[in-house]
Formats: sequence, structure tokens, C-alpha cells
Amino acid sequence: MRIDLHTHSTASDGTDTPAELVRNAAAAGLDVVALTDHDSTRGHAEAIAALPASVTLVTGAELSCRVDGIGLHMLAYLFDPAEPDLASEMELVRDDRVPRARGMVGKLQELGVPIEWDQVARIAGDGSIGRPHIASALVELGVVETVSDAFTSNWLANDGRCYVDKHELDPFDAIRLVKAAGGVTVFAHPGAARRGHTVPESAIAELAAVGLDGIEVDHMDHDAPTRARLRALAADLGLLVTGSSDYHGSRKTVRLGESTTDPEIYGEITRRSTGAFPVPGAGGSPRR
Ligand code: AMP
Ligand code: ZN
Ligand code: FE
Ligand code: FE
Repeated sequence: MRIDLHTHSTASDGTDTPAELVRNAAAAGLDVVALTDHDSTRGHAEAIAALPASVTLVTGAELSCRVDGIGLHMLAYLFDPAEPDLASEMELVRDDRVPRARGMVGKLQELGVPIEWDQVARIAGDGSIGRPHIASALVELGVVETVSDAFTSNWLANDGRCYVDKHELDPFDAIRLVKAAGGVTVFAHPGAARRGHTVPESAIAELAAVGLDGIEVDHMDHDAPTRARLRALAADLGLLVTGSSDYHGSRKTVRLGESTTDPEIYGEITRRSTGAFPVPGAGGSPRR
């Protein structure tokens, strides 16, 4: 079984539509794929409708959080998307992304970059708008060569000249809300230092104490020593260990299934969740 538990579609800052994403998952030989758009479940229905027979879909989202001034991402799986407390918190974060993106466009304009809001809005479409959309606009304008090149202190990195904060969830609240909606939480890429400051191990221990289920260890932004350290921490804290691609279509170079999750861990995630079931591809038999 090949299981990839972290991907993005055009419902946030990926470039595959949800339908393309699940078809590409089948083509990549994945048996299970999770759709985890930033602060959004909007892509789920389209992904389910297009699901190839060979693929099971795990519905989810990646929640933008912050603790002690440090941003972090919390993957949430198999929660009930209709649960109002969680849904309204996600909506707050999603809605605040719009004025925040406008703020970043304004800062770019002040620096003389000929970027227009309409261009960024066109690139984002109806997806939850974020820095990668602005980065794509900067690539179109020839300001930077790649999306990744826009994430420097010159431009959109956390310490960048054009960075603007957005509303984010307290991760302790996020864990509680996802749990109340029947879902499971996995701390995404906790050691991804090149994105900015990472939380200390003591904070991961505190999150574990309030019910965090797991941490993502096998991720492209973790080098081998980081993976080893996180694996040991997970063992200490009794946390599940996952692996995934964090696929963003053509906005990142990573391929679907580049890192994967152990089937035993996937089984445990499905056993712990009560808010939603994995969706088997049409014609397939239910697999849990
Ligand atoms: P936002 O949610 O708008 O703050 O944007 C965060 C997203 O930007 C992340 O989910 C990544 O997809 C992307 N990102 C963050 N840091 C980098 C980086 N160094 N290179 C490329 N993409 C990045
Ligand atoms: Zn993203
Ligand atoms: Fe992330
Ligand atoms: Fe992600």
C-alpha cells in the first residue's frame, strides 16, 4: 500500500484541480491520498466525484496555527466538515487571507514591483489565497525565477520585506476543535527550519499532552538528522509518525508519493477518527 497523507489542490495553493489531483494520485500508483488544502475543505466534493477506483481518499485540511509568535501547520484528518465550531474557525482564517494578501501586494507595489491585485486574484481563483499565489505572480512578472525564490527575506519569507501576518489558530484550540469534530491531528513538517522558526520539542510535548495524534517526519523539508531526532521524539511521546509529499502540483518540485506513510499508522489514524470515513474509489471495496 502506498499512502500519501498531505497534498494541495487549487482549493488552496496547489495547481492541480481536486479532480486532477486524485487522477494523478492513481497514475502515481498511490492507494491512499489525503487532500489537505490550507484552511479549506472546499476541494473534497470534486475529489470524491472524480475518485478513480484504485484510490481511497482521506479528507482533511492543513490548519494555519501560531504559538508564541511561531507559525506552524496542523494537519487534520477525517473530521466532520459540517461541525460548526471547526468550520467557522477555518472560515475566519480563510477570510483573513484576502486582506492579508492585498497587504502583501501593496508592499510589493511600494517597492516598485508592477504587481496588480487582479493578477494575484486570477492566479488564486477560488482557492484559499496564500503566498504561493503571489509568488507565482512574481514569477510571471520575471521578478523571481521560481516560486521558491520568492520565499526570501527580500520578498515573502516570514522575515521578508513584503510579509504580512494572517489570523491563525492557537494549535491547542485546533487540536481540541478537530477532536470535537471526530478528527485526528498530525503536526505538519515540525522541523522545516528553512521556512522560519520552528517550535521547540517542549512545545510538541505540550501539544501531545492535549491530544496531538502524530507528527509528520518524512517530509522534503526535513534532512536525515532532523528525521532521526523527530522519530525519537515521537517514540518518547507516543506519537504516530507519518510521511507525505506535501504535493503542490507545479508550484513545487516534489512528486506525489515522494514520501509515504506506513499502512499500520494509516490504519491507526482511521481507527481513531469518527468524524468521517476514508472514501473508496468508485467500484472499489471500502478499505480502512
Ligand atoms: P501562507 O499560507 O500564505 O503563509 O503560505 C505558506 C505556504 O507557502 C506553505 O504552505 C508552502 O506551500 C509555501 N512555502 C513556505 N515556505 C516556502 C519556501 N521556502 N519555498 C517554497 N514554498 C514555501
Ligand atoms: Zn501550501
Ligand atoms: Fe504546510
Ligand atoms: Fe502543505
